Amino acid sequence: MREIQMVDLRAQYEKIGSEIDNAIKSVLLSTAFIKGPDVKLFEEELQEYMGVKHVVSCANGTDALHLAMMVLGLKPGDEVITTNFTFIATIEVVALLGLRPVIVDPEPGTFNISVEAVRKAITPKTKAIVPVHLFGQCADMESIMELAKKHDLFVIEDAAQATGADYIFKNGTAKKAGTIGHIGTTSFFPSKNLGCYGDGGALYTDDETFARKLRSIANHGMKERYHYDDIGVNSRLDSIQAAILRVKLKHLSEFNAARKTVADRYDEAFEGCRSISVPERVSYSSHIFHQYTIKVKNGKRDELKKFLESKNIPSMVYYPGPLHMQNAYSYLGYNENDFPITTSLCKEVLSLPMHPDMDREQIDYITFNVLEFFDK
Ligand SMILES: *Cc1c(COP(=O)(O)O)cnc(C)c1O
Repeated sequence: MREIQMVDLRAQYEKIGSEIDNAIKSVLLSTAFIKGPDVKLFEEELQEYMGVKHVVSCANGTDALHLAMMVLGLKPGDEVITTNFTFIATIEVVALLGLRPVIVDPEPGTFNISVEAVRKAITPKTKAIVPVHLFGQCADMESIMELAKKHDLFVIEDAAQATGADYIFKNGTAKKAGTIGHIGTTSFFPSKNLGCYGDGGALYTDDETFARKLRSIANHGMKERYHYDDIGVNSRLDSIQAAILRVKLKHLSEFNAARKTVADRYDEAFEGCRSISVPERVSYSSHIFHQYTIKVKNGKRDELKKFLESKNIPSMVYYPGPLHMQNAYSYLGYNENDFPITTSLCKEVLSLPMHPDMDREQIDYITFNVLEFFDK
């Protein structure tokens, strides 16, 4: 059996390597390393795939969030509500801009931001909500958009873990994760569902004014060469990464479908095992399984993780510590017990190996060992 990895980018490269090599070579020969034709073509192709009017590429997913926050024209002290159960980048950019991160608990079943908790956290200073489509499944966007409309708030979707997931509206229509709010952001970090071979990121919006301004800010605020309308940053997707992403985008649907097959097999094997719960799936979103994250009951999570390790099965804890207990954010003044759901999730969650190239033998070996641990 092939060695099991959390994400097997080597196996993926073995499959699509010749396409990737050709794409990289063509950029090398063109020497158009920055703002080359592949960047524009990738933006157009992603636009088409996402069904959105504008895609603006940038250097990484954290920058995408940063640029999104910059373009809203918020003032220091304005409040931005987001979930406590996410990667640090989501609140980091809010804090960096002198805005106030207001964090709320997620839903225990879906891991996604609780709409009820958002509703309770809204104050006259609230200006934006940042739902994160965690682990590949959409947050309850229709309720979030209703709430935002009622209180005149911006919605920035952090779709870094959900490239390709569909949100399904009550009327049956669907939109891609990241294209429902005012601005959506994503990351092309190598392990993401659509990942490059370095850093990369992008923003989605249907708003022409936002798109123009985002493009400007990502390029030093430049209007025309050496004329600056905005205070900007240098945040660009480079041409080699764009060329790689053009190849990978063509395979994204097939890769996401393969992840779902792995998840279905996990679900099936774990059915009836009372010591763990499998990821909840909701009717309003497809799930592209950026992570397959189980909850382990009775305080056995760390013991299970060690046991799997002894069988050469990697697993990861996303996320081990709640954001409100990180030293950097102690100035927000939260107390340890303010977020009971996040705190208990941090003790229970365990993400199992998940990637499109897992074979039946590997999945069976993993599920056998998980069940074996609880049978002991
Ligand atoms: C990966 C990730 C980011 C940051 O993306 P980078 O490209 O690593 O900067 C932001 N938010 C979430 C939820 C992520 O998973």
